[in-house]
Amino acid sequence: MNDLQGLRVLVAGAGAVGSVTALTLLRCGASVHLADRASRGDNASGVAAGMLAPAFEALLDPVSAEHFPILAAARMGWADLADSLPAGQTLIDRSGALYFAKDDADLRRRAERLAAFDPSSEILGAAQAQALSAGLRAPGPGLFSALDWRLEPGATLAALHKAFLQEGGAFLAQAVDRQWRNGADVLVLATGADAMPVELPESGLLTPIKGHILRFEKAGPGRGPVVRAPGVYVAPVSGGAAVGATMQAGRSDREIEAGAVAELREAGAQLFPQLIGSSRPQVGIRAATPDGLPLAGPSGGDARIFLAAGARRNGWLLAPAIADVIAARLRGLESGAFGAAFDPGRFAIR
Ligand SMILES: Cc1cc2nc3c(=O)[nH]c(=O)nc-3n(C[C@H](O)[C@H](O)[C@H](O)COP(=O)(O)OP(=O)(O)OC[C@H]3O[C@@H](n4cnc5c(N)ncnc54)[C@H](O)[C@@H]3O)c2cc1C
Repeated sequence: MNDLQGLRVLVAGAGAVGSVTALTLLRCGASVHLADRASRGDNASGVAAGMLAPAFEALLDPVSAEHFPILAAARMGWADLADSLPAGQTLIDRSGALYFAKDDADLRRRAERLAAFDPSSEILGAAQAQALSAGLRAPGPGLFSALDWRLEPGATLAALHKAFLQEGGAFLAQAVDRQWRNGADVLVLATGADAMPVELPESGLLTPIKGHILRFEKAGPGRGPVVRAPGVYVAPVSGGAAVGATMQAGRSDREIEAGAVAELREAGAQLFPQLIGSSRPQVGIRAATPDGLPLAGPSGGDARIFLAAGARRNGWLLAPAIADVIAARLRGLESGAFGAAFDPGRFAIR
């Protein structure tokens, strides 16, 4: 595994993708600096709900409809990675997810499609669904899958950074700029939706998608499955809930909009009537490619610069898969199905 010994890598961006990639490369023997100009979690990764949700992302998000095999394989990367982190498997909540459709026909149609991804998925009656989630007012029967997991972004970032430091990585509290070469052989750009510090042919492939999410610290299910309905999800977090999320394509400002907050509050309270008290709204910016899958691999403009960005609304889920592709490409190994799907050159070929 130590075949990157002697390689000096600078990773720009300490969100989910940069942090997992930095740790993975360190474990392959590289000397790694992880640089960020912002504080821990002051990015999309810190704001996210942390769902590792191959089943319902493929079922509910049209852009991800064909990506189930990739998303499901990526989720398995978390089982291994969590094992190697402080706090280990307690970082992962395997309670699954529940979906309430807009009507009965929608429920049956989605149940049929979900069964192709997850033969164990099932329709639960309202009372059964309510038994899984404290305070839930089920609007009718719900569709359940145990395939979807969740992690807590703040705790997971902290665990990743702790492991990175303990294992010999170094942090730089600064922005990486176009003069990045200072001592490094390779630059990994995990800069999320921010402008890449180096002009590359792939720069124009990423578009921002603004997302609002509400954090309830003292109300909400606290544990159990993520509960989804058209246009909203309620993710249990310790002692409360996160209610998300808007998808505002083309927007990269982090201004909190009262209208977006009101819509999320109302949708969340439809499912959990106790979600009416005070909440903390947050905004994060996702970066998206035209096909919804990330860019992971060397840039076509400079073979020493690797891209690790564009995971849209599944950056937590895909982070270990992105990191594995970068590590394989640097080690000269086959990067498999993830490598082909995330190849930064795939848009030029079409
Ligand atoms: C509301 C919301 C909910 C979400 N929910 C989920 C979810 O449930 N599950 C899931 O998988 N995904 C979810 N996502 C998507 C996920 O958050 C992103 O895909 C993921 O966080 C992207 O991680 P990243 O590391 O690429 O980028 P970021 O987390 O944005 O990190 C990029 C970092 O790069 C730093 N940076 C930028 N430029 C430079 C520079 N020049 N030098 C140094 N540092 C730099 C920034 O300061 C930042 O810290 C959600 C997103 C939002 C907004």
